[in-house]
Amino acid sequence: MAEKRDYYEVLGVDRNADDETLKHAYRKLAKKYHPDMNPGDKVAEEKFKEATEAYSVLSDPDKRRAYDQYGHAAFENGGAGGAGGFDFSGMDMGDIFGDFFGDIFGGGRSSRNNNGPQRGSNLRVVVHLTFEEAVFGCTKDLEITLKDTCRTCGGSGAKPGTSPETCPNCHGTGQIRHTQQSMFGMIQNIETCPQCGGSGKIIREKCPDCHGTGYTSGRKKIQVAVPAGIDDGQSIRIRDKGEPGVNGGPRGDLLVQVVVAPHPIFQRDGVNIFSTAPITFAQAALGGDIRINTVDGEVVYSVKPGTQTDTRIRLRGKGVPSLHNKNVRGDQYVTLIVQTPTGLSAEAKEALREFDAACGNRDGADNGREKEGKKKKTFREKMKEKFEED
Ligand SMILES: [Zn+2]
Ligand SMILES: [Zn+2]
Repeated sequence: MAEKRDYYEVLGVDRNADDETLKHAYRKLAKKYHPDMNPGDKVAEEKFKEATEAYSVLSDPDKRRAYDQYGHAAFENGGAGGAGGFDFSGMDMGDIFGDFFGDIFGGGRSSRNNNGPQRGSNLRVVVHLTFEEAVFGCTKDLEITLKDTCRTCGGSGAKPGTSPETCPNCHGTGQIRHTQQSMFGMIQNIETCPQCGGSGKIIREKCPDCHGTGYTSGRKKIQVAVPAGIDDGQSIRIRDKGEPGVNGGPRGDLLVQVVVAPHPIFQRDGVNIFSTAPITFAQAALGGDIRINTVDGEVVYSVKPGTQTDTRIRLRGKGVPSLHNKNVRGDQYVTLIVQTPTGLSAEAKEALREFDAACGNRDGADNGREKEGKKKKTFREKMKEKFEED
């Protein structure tokens, strides 16, 4: 298979394109490449499919976020380790075509029946994790309010012994159609029936237990397996734990959005962790072993002699496990910060003066200060001369 093109490129839009721009771009391509307009043209058909796929992903905020984050990988092999991954199999093409193919192509294509089984809506909840829980994964117990089909009326919403009547306004179709002439030919506009709200049914006597909604709600406990490596803002999709479907349709999904608390020591960027570690002046100069905090606990690191402050070292495999491949871990980058000693004892000061002298500075630290002052003066003078020239 050829390399898949970038979805934004396919639609010819900017990565920040809003919904209207996406829709507009897709309409244009769909009109140009639609199989009905290009009978037997395989290239056009491929282009049409490509645009449709791109639009179906980018027009869905969850899928678009996953795509922005993982690219096409978000939709391969079930997605990112079950988190933030989506597949096309559950995609309702009727939604896309139903939205506007009806008015582009004269309505023949869109005959979405609101009486048919419909998938329930997705539910969204937020789960708060510590830094470590996100790194290593965990199991979280959540309590959510979940709707269920009402047992008293079996979801019809009608009082037991009665049944919903067919809506006289739309004759049970749930839709009202208006036909008008336009530059594309006859246009059929389809509206949701205002009298029955699109259900095609009118309930005269409501079920006392669900008040005609067909649903009851209750608190349910569910366990969420949070995969190792999940990051702040990502979501875990739990299939079939959303709102119940209509007319025997499947339940929607539960989307658990992850909020990760900041860590006092570690910062995270993707699979890598960043931190700092202090080292003493003597350790920096002479080298020596220091202890560094990692998410796995302390490790001992041998500082090289002559290490400068802000030297960044890498601890391989001490980062975050990859969501895509549990066997791959990022690294930890540690910036070593040389601590200039303060509050020195008389003894320590004397030792430092001796040290300074041993380094070749006459009269110890005092001499160094004098030298520094002299140097600065010279520099200032130079600058002065320079400005006077200008
Ligand atoms: Zn009921
Ligand atoms: Zn109606």
